[in-house]
Amino acid sequence: MSKALEQVLQQEVDKRRTFAIISHPDAGKTTLTEKLLLFGGAIRLAGSVKARKASKHATSDWMEIEKQRGISVTSSVMQFDYKGHRINILDTPGHQDFSEDTYRTLTAADSAVMLIDVAKGVEAQTKKLFQVCAQRGIPIFTFINKLDREGRNPFELMEEIEQVLGIRSVPMNWPIGSGRELCGVYDRMKKQVELFQGDDHSTIQVQKVSDYKDPIIREMAGEYLHEQLCQDIELLDVAGDPFDFEKVRKGELTPVFFGSAVNNFGVQTFLENFLELAPKPAPRHSTAGEVEPTNEKFTGYVFKIQANMNPAHRDRIAFLRIVSGKFERGMSVKHVRTGKEIKLSQPQQFLAQDRDIVEEAYPGDIIGLFDPGIFRIGDSLSQGSEVVFDELPTFSPEIFAKVTVKNALKHKQYQKGIDQLTEEGTIQVFQTVSFDDTILGVVGQLQFEVFEYRMKGEYGVDVQLQRMPYQFARWIVDDKIDPSKFRINSTLVKDKKGNYVVLFENEYAMRTAMEKNPTAKFLETAP
Ligand code: GDP
Repeated sequence: MSKALEQVLQQEVDKRRTFAIISHPDAGKTTLTEKLLLFGGAIRLAGSVKARKASKHATSDWMEIEKQRGISVTSSVMQFDYKGHRINILDTPGHQDFSEDTYRTLTAADSAVMLIDVAKGVEAQTKKLFQVCAQRGIPIFTFINKLDREGRNPFELMEEIEQVLGIRSVPMNWPIGSGRELCGVYDRMKKQVELFQGDDHSTIQVQKVSDYKDPIIREMAGEYLHEQLCQDIELLDVAGDPFDFEKVRKGELTPVFFGSAVNNFGVQTFLENFLELAPKPAPRHSTAGEVEPTNEKFTGYVFKIQANMNPAHRDRIAFLRIVSGKFERGMSVKHVRTGKEIKLSQPQQFLAQDRDIVEEAYPGDIIGLFDPGIFRIGDSLSQGSEVVFDELPTFSPEIFAKVTVKNALKHKQYQKGIDQLTEEGTIQVFQTVSFDDTILGVVGQLQFEVFEYRMKGEYGVDVQLQRMPYQFARWIVDDKIDPSKFRINSTLVKDKKGNYVVLFENEYAMRTAMEKNPTAKFLETAP
């Protein structure tokens, strides 16, 4: 490879950080994202993340369904620069627009920031998203937000993180006081205190100290709060986990930061520590082994397909994570599944709500490719030799509905629609073994709405969805599968590849089935 390209690739890879923020709605993800963008000097974006949320696309011509529901179906990618780093934040939609795409987006991240509300602790959606990250073994950094409010005891929160999520934590900083009494944080690593100033906590004073016992802290925070801080840090030093870079990298230990996004308190320290500790773009596994980001041949994979961003053109955008090499606008690459050469002529990059044409991009970056209907979730693109990246996991659906076509004469279009929308990852489809009924599975209610809307809009088919009482799907691997064993509060189905899957109405039914079939394996994702 040419020396010059090798050097450029190495430099570009070294400075990149691609991550997702995982949290439960209302924890402060929008607020934190906006503060991070502001630090990046993306001033013209000030308020735009909020605005995007608030204006609800009043003027956008994206999917009608977005307007009707006043939410964003799209999860975008935001890029900004900060002190020599290039940062890509992958947005993971929450609220009602939670869907399988939210999970798939995490497969494009090299690390995750877990945002927790200090008063609420680990919430349901955080737990689900955490598990997907944990399965991939990516590093997870925790930001405990809303410290300006009355919240739970930090030790209790650490305990909860370990109990509920099964990951050890190491506080990088520690609150001095809490709620209305909060006066700042002590940075354990840098040995400095950061103190709020003024009633509105608008300015921050940073003071180097010898350690937590330093009398300067007493002067600044008062005797009572300093005493409490000393006790807490002593306990952490004795009983807590020491900081261990290797464990952080393996996703076995999460560094914890306390702060308040809305007051911009602790955000900059968090960002700087995060950039130092978070991994640069990682290699990805493929049929050709690990593909290193510095490999000069361009490769990437599609992790998400966004339909109808502009209904006037019926266009679709395929989101591609660049794995290796340099991307240049107009380059030709091989679409490995079909063997076709395609020209990437209108690539787009995302800056908050703007979509810009991108001229060049590097590993870790996400680009949006105009999709005339050739891409599927998980497709690989490569320059030169054919590289096929590992398939993206299929996530266990949690909501199920039986689907039927209202007009039997439209059966052909109906089947075509189901096949294509399944390939795009809009829904998962199952056939019951007993009656050959078609059951759709999703992780978010919105996916059903998108499905119905697109079946009508693109295939001219009215469908009827009848909710089924199932909550869990498990792929079953067994030598002798006996459908009669899965009749009570469960049903045996096949996925589109013919794998057996059991749908269960509740955990009890699932546990009973596992006990009765000790030789079978029940998997949460497709084998
Ligand atoms: P998202 O749903 O996770 O994107 O949450 P938002 O960023 O929209 O925040 C939800 C609410 O919490 C908003 O009213 C924010 O102003 C508020 N909020 C965010 N960060 C903080 C914080 O640090 N302290 C307090 N008191 N409120 C916050």
